[in-house]
Amino acid sequence: MSYQVLTRKWRPQLFEEVVGQDHIIRILKNAVSLRRISNAYLFSGQRGVGKTSTARILAKALNCEKGPTPAPCNKCSICKQIIRGNCLDVLEIDGASNRGIDEVRELREKVRFSPVKARFKVYIIDEVHMLTNPAFNALLKTLEEPPSYVVFIFATTNPHKLPQTITSRCQHFEFRGISASAILLRLKQIVEKEKIDITEEALRLIVEAAENSMRDAEKILDQTTSYTEEKITEKDIADILGMVEKRYLFQFTENLAHKANLSNIKLVDQLLKEGKSAEGFISGWQKWFRDLIIIKIGGKQDSLPILNLNEREELEKQASYFKLNQIIYFIDVLSEFRQKITFSSEPQIHLELLMFQLSSSLAGMDNLNLKEPELSAIYQKILDLEKRLTSNHSSSKIKKEEEKKNSPDENGEEEEFKKIIVKAMDIFEAEIVNNDRR
Ligand SMILES: [Zn+2]
Repeated sequence: MSYQVLTRKWRPQLFEEVVGQDHIIRILKNAVSLRRISNAYLFSGQRGVGKTSTARILAKALNCEKGPTPAPCNKCSICKQIIRGNCLDVLEIDGASNRGIDEVRELREKVRFSPVKARFKVYIIDEVHMLTNPAFNALLKTLEEPPSYVVFIFATTNPHKLPQTITSRCQHFEFRGISASAILLRLKQIVEKEKIDITEEALRLIVEAAENSMRDAEKILDQTTSYTEEKITEKDIADILGMVEKRYLFQFTENLAHKANLSNIKLVDQLLKEGKSAEGFISGWQKWFRDLIIIKIGGKQDSLPILNLNEREELEKQASYFKLNQIIYFIDVLSEFRQKITFSSEPQIHLELLMFQLSSSLAGMDNLNLKEPELSAIYQKILDLEKRLTSNHSSSKIKKEEEKKNSPDENGEEEEFKKIIVKAMDIFEAEIVNNDRR
């Protein structure tokens, strides 16, 4: 099975089948029903979130023999031609390879002629931001006075690279990244219909790797099916994608929190012996820490991978091990480390050193961070001391001398306060240095 098979087979053919873009679909369906068709649409968003699929469905909705209708039949000859990609009136142009002025001039020539068979001439220009400036200028002339039967649909991953003169003439729809749960749901439908034998954990790892792109998720699933004849496991997916399974990331973090360096060094050895790449591990660990941050700050469930109750509890536990700035520091160190390790011929030694670096930073930061409650206590003591000293000054010198004689305890206390001030200053300074480093 090649990867086109699944993505093509499962490409949405109706507005209702487009996943995760309800806010756009509703408007487009209404526009078709009410015949309020714009001459130019701009679909922006990351790759694999349904821009081109939606453009094709819109082309069918406008041109279906039973339409214009928000529910194209997918059976008439025009619908079928559009699905096959050989409808003369619906043209898909790749902006990346047809970016010059000649191509756009040719397009302008063709725009003048009314559609051959369909109601509308639809031009779908993918990656439109790749067009050259002269090409944009030529396109602009058409957009300024478009014939009523022409509909442009521009798709782009980089809308900010389009000239304002173009975007201002388009109805702009921003496609969202698709949520992990929506992708998982769709994958489950696919594996059920396609009778693909795969574990839930494996599917979830695919969802994570796809990073909100439906198409990427389908592609990975396809790759996987040709990888093994047996039930596909999380390990298979991890192997194919060069990722590291969650149990590793959990254990590394657990050891780090308990400063169990030796255990982490053994784990590094095991990881590399299993043929995992250092890069895959580092990038997985970074994401792991990122998830800990999301949990720590009480971020949206949407921003997290899909977790079962057990995993959720594990992550919450690990999030509580660290302070926010410690986790941010880990992520910082790991990004730097990732660049280093790419060119390293000794990943093992580097990884071992990394374990020490992270855990010793933890020790250093511990001193700093224990202080947060402690710091305010110290600060309070300083204020108290100041108050006492002032009140002492205001009283008579004799009285003060007497007090000193009578209460040696308080005298000792003063000494103690002085020590506390020195300590507090040290901590304040360390904090400032630390902040500067960030
Ligand atoms: Zn039709």
